[in-house]
This record gives sequence, C-alpha cells and structure tokens, in this order.
Amino acid sequence: MSNSPERYTITAALPYTNGPIHIGHLAGVYVPADIYARYLRMQGNDVAFVCGSDEHGVPITIKAKKEGVTPQDIVDKYDGIIRESFKEFGISFNNYSRTSAKVHHDTASEFFKTMYENGKFIEETTKQLYDDKAGQFLADRFVTGTCPKCGNEEAYGDQCESCGTSLNATDLINPKSAITGEVPSLKETRHWFLPLDQYQEWLDEWIVKGHAHDWKSNVHGQVKSWLNDGLRARAVTRDLDWGIPVPVEGGDGKVLYVWFDAPIGYISSTKEWAEREGKDWKPYWKDENTRLIHFIGKDNIVFHCIIFPVMLKAHGEFILPENVPANEFLNLEGKKLSTSKNWAVWLHEYLEDFPHKQDVLRYALTANAPETKDNDFTWKDFQARNNNELVAIFGNFINRVVVLTNKYYSGIVPKPNEYSEVDEQTIAELKAYPAVIASSIEKYRFREAQAELMNLARLGNKYLADEEPWKLIKTDEERVKTVMYVALQIASALATLSEPFLPFSSAKLQKMLNFTDAESKLSGEEYSQWDKIATRDSLLPGGHQIGKAELLFSKIEDKEIEKQLDKLEATKTANAAADKEVEPQKETASFEDFTKMDLRVGTIIEAHKMPKTKKLMVIKVDTGLDKRTVVSGIAEHYKAENILGKKVTVLANLAPRKLRGVASEGMILMTENAQGKLVFVNPDEDGVEPGATIN
Ligand SMILES: [Zn+2]
Repeated sequence: MSNSPERYTITAALPYTNGPIHIGHLAGVYVPADIYARYLRMQGNDVAFVCGSDEHGVPITIKAKKEGVTPQDIVDKYDGIIRESFKEFGISFNNYSRTSAKVHHDTASEFFKTMYENGKFIEETTKQLYDDKAGQFLADRFVTGTCPKCGNEEAYGDQCESCGTSLNATDLINPKSAITGEVPSLKETRHWFLPLDQYQEWLDEWIVKGHAHDWKSNVHGQVKSWLNDGLRARAVTRDLDWGIPVPVEGGDGKVLYVWFDAPIGYISSTKEWAEREGKDWKPYWKDENTRLIHFIGKDNIVFHCIIFPVMLKAHGEFILPENVPANEFLNLEGKKLSTSKNWAVWLHEYLEDFPHKQDVLRYALTANAPETKDNDFTWKDFQARNNNELVAIFGNFINRVVVLTNKYYSGIVPKPNEYSEVDEQTIAELKAYPAVIASSIEKYRFREAQAELMNLARLGNKYLADEEPWKLIKTDEERVKTVMYVALQIASALATLSEPFLPFSSAKLQKMLNFTDAESKLSGEEYSQWDKIATRDSLLPGGHQIGKAELLFSKIEDKEIEKQLDKLEATKTANAAADKEVEPQKETASFEDFTKMDLRVGTIIEAHKMPKTKKLMVIKVDTGLDKRTVVSGIAEHYKAENILGKKVTVLANLAPRKLRGVASEGMILMTENAQGKLVFVNPDEDGVEPGATIN
C-alpha cells in the first residue's frame, strides 16, 4: 500500500458518555486506531480518522434520573472529560464530534428517511415489555433477564455482554425492569424493524466467504456463529424521549434506537470535519476506492459487522468496511475492568500520578494489547516495560548518541569514513525495519510492530556497546566518526518510526535531532517519512547540527507502583464491604432488657498482651466508677502501646468471668471493619460499614 497514496476512512468506536474512559478503552480501540492512522499519514495517504461521543441511549437517562439532572447535563460533563483524555494521550483524530450535534441529528434523520422511503423497514405493531409501575416501555438497558443463548442472568434487553449476542427485549427469560424491579407486562406498540434475516445470505457471501482470510479470526468466528443461529428482524425505534426523534409519520414520542444512530455518527463526524477543512465528505463514504476501517472492542462486533453494514447496504449509497479489527478485552490485575465497581485505571487519574508519561502507558498497553485473546494489565509489568525497555534500551541509546555527539563534535554530525563490515551489516539491518514494522501494522498486529521498533533500539544499543566509541576516542578518532555517524542514523530512524507508537517522545527526539533543519538540508520533501529511511543514503547528513540531550524516559520507582496497588487494594476492600452479607437482626429486646445493661465511657490506662495467648490482651480501664481489669480478644489487631489513653465503651455490669486465670470485670465494645479488623466502636472510623454488629 505504500506505493501510491490512498484514501482511508478510519473510525474508532464512539465512547459512551456515561463515564470517563479507562485503560481498557485505550488499549482495545483508541491506541491501535491511532497507531494505524498516524502510520498511514506518514505514508502520505489521505486519512479521515473520526470519532465522537455517543450521547443517546438508555444508560444515560438512567444515570440522569439517579443523579437528578438532565441527560444533557450527563453527556456535557463526560463529553468534556473524554475529549480531554484523548487530547492528553495524543489520539490524533481528524475530528471528534458528538451525537447530540445538529449535523448528526440531521444526518441520522436523513439516513432513516431514505431507508423508510425505499421500503427497507417493516412497520409492525407488536407486544413489547412494559413497566406498569413506571408507566413506560422497557427496551435495551431498562430491562435485564437471562440470556437465551448462554444463560447469563444479567443480560440486557438489546445485548448479552457475556456472549456478545444481540437480543430483542422479549427474548429475555425472566425479564425484570431495571427501573422498578417489577416483572414487566406486555403492551402493544408500533415500531420499525430492520429485517436482518433478508440480508443473511448476502452477509454470508460478504463476510463468511469473502473475508475468511483477511479478517481477524475472533471477528470472523463470531459473525459466522450468529449467522449459523439465523438472523431475525430487529426494531430500530424505541418508545423513549431521549434520542433522535423518528422523522416519519407515526413517529411521535419515539426515537431511533441508539445503535441505529451511533454508527451514523462516523458519517456525521466526517461531514463536520470536511466542512471545517473545506473538503467534500462524500468520497470518504461513497467512493469505492476508499478503504473504510472500523476499530472497536469485541462487544461491538455485532453492530459493526452485521447491523451497520446491513444499514449501509440497505441505504445503498455507501461503501462497506474493508476490515473490522476488533480487539478482545483487557483485564486489570487479573480481574475484569468494571466502571461500576471502579476496577479501572482512569486516564485522568493516571495523568495526575504520572504526568508527562502518556507514552509509557501507550507503550505498555500496546505491548500487552488484547489482539487475539483477553489480556492482563499489571502495574509490575507497566514498571518493567518502562524501566527495562523504554529507559534501559531506547532512552539509553538515544542519550549516549546525543551526549557523545555533543561532547566529541559540538553536536555536529561527523562525516563518516569507510564502513567496516559491521557498519554495512548494521545499516542494512536498519533499512529493513521500516518494511518489517509496516507489514505488521498493515496486518493490525500492533504488538508485533512495536516489538520490532524496540528491536531497532536494541540494534543501536548493541552497536554502541560493541564498538565502544568512548574507548576508541583515545586511539582512533577517525573510526569514532564513522561509528557515531552510523549510530546517529539509527537514532534518526527511531525518531521517525516511533511516531505512531510514542508520539510525544518521537516529537521530543525529532526536536533533539533538529529534524526541521535536516529537512531543508535535504531535498525539501517532508522529512518524517517512513519509506525514506530505506531509500535515502543519509538520514542525518554529515555537517548537520543536532541539539542537546534531554531525557526521553525516566525510571519508575517501586513506591509509585505500590501506591497504585494500594489504590486497587482499597477498591477491593470497598467492593467486598458492599457485597458483604449483613447478619440478620437478633430477637427483639424489651426496653427493660436494654436498661439492664450499664454502659459507660472508660479510658484505657494500662494494657499488656496475655503471655502464651495469641488474641488476649489484659487491659486496665478507668470507668469513672473504679479502675478495673477487662480481658479483651484484640491482641491480633492492636499493640498494647497504641491503645493507652483511648476512650472506649464499656459494658460495666457484665457478670465477671475468668479468662486464663485472670478475672475480667466487664467488656469493651468492639466491631469488625470491612478489612476484618476488630476496632473500638466508633461508627465514623474508616471501613466501619452499616450493619456491622457491636459486641
Ligand atoms: Zn449470552
């Protein structure tokens, strides 16, 4: 593809605006899409890389209801946060739009109307799930129940997230309203259906037979399985008030199904961009020669491989995707990422803890990308990728080259003498890298591509370590000129080839090597061009002045990683507390029963662990009445010296009893916090949850 420039429309799944985005989103969709788009631009292609916020659908209305605000408030808030995260991480969209924008409402309405006028829908009155208590129809996320395909008990009315199958709400076994928890009734309503079954044969030809070899096997396999099960008509309108109004007769009070309007958002975003740039948007969606690529996560395969293509085909004026390189899921420290359980690394929080380390996260996520199976992000791996690869290999090589060039030649690239065999070999290897990395990127194998980039840095590191210019400089200055020249060519190639993966570091390195200047010294063509590395004699010509060394990467210390692990541990504890079963209430106590108990505030004045026991502590308490001894089972949770002077609640008139020969005259009231630690009764203490018993 690198021979002649081509037109590409690259889409990245529209993020849903009911929360911020986390590393799973970045790893699954946006970083791979960005690597691909940046690479294609560097090859001189015409690229429209578009995305936008998905702002319709039921979860947003549910969230708005819960928070007592409008759906618009919710989408405005998260659209802002998400935009900022993308910008911070260098996701190079040509345009980022939102589906509440007018251009999108117009585009989606037009799209629906065209299909309607061409008779592409089935209009039908059917019985749909209805919540009598809430007085509304239950579509999509308003209803949960058991998935008829895999048995997942928390499937939604439009999709089971466990097996990925797309569902009609009435397919659910034991449906339950997400609003009131009621069992829904059935009520008649009129809707427009997309007859997917009529496209079954066409999909079979186009995807199952036509893309058996060029689509990823996880994507191809899923599509094949759904087609084997047989497709059915799906309603593309809903009885809701948040969304794009159904623009045809009889559509009052109804909106387009969110998954009908959302993918049209790619088209609207392209229009918005073209308008701003003074371009024509149509070739990007209607010219047969344009290559349309959808980057998504595996939960969106059904929408991008079946529903949206059927819409495009039925409409008739649009091209179809050439590929849908969907990724599997990323887990965090062995557990599924979850927004509701706060089991995530949020991008805006990451930047607070690791400012200016966007490239490190991009690198670690790509190195571990869930390209063929679910994969795991761990903080230890993140640290190792940074310290052992970015710092120790890439950063170390660049630093040596730039520092030595400044030291020996005041930063001016030396003119080489005759190449040795090792030099020839090294230059030949260097020139092979652009094609190797390109080939992996073009196959959507970004992990492999990035690993090759690091291999090029390894080549540079090894070359310097073997040639040892810092020793040679004392004996053979002429040879050192050649060695440094070769090393500078590798540094220059790294500056260019790292751009899709590590855009911030690449920019810093290009500046360090003074690329803009190099450009004018060469032929005037754009300097940072992929293929020129293989064809040009010199990447940084002799006589070119480079800048001073700056650190590209810095070490991440253990304590920074421990802080992140502690954060996750706290989340785990909070989740465990939320899930914990509360002991049932005891038998009713009469008021008389209560007044029998003499509860006093006491101060601990002495304490020591009882010898030869694990749990028992002998405590002397000043109860105001007297100073008495109480034996308490807290020795595993407190150190004696730490409880002196503490005020506690004492049951003073508990019948005395002997414990290991010591008379205990009363009881200090304790409770257990969420971590299972016994604590003195103080309901405000961290980790003490409602329902904890006191004894
Ligand atoms: Zn399922």
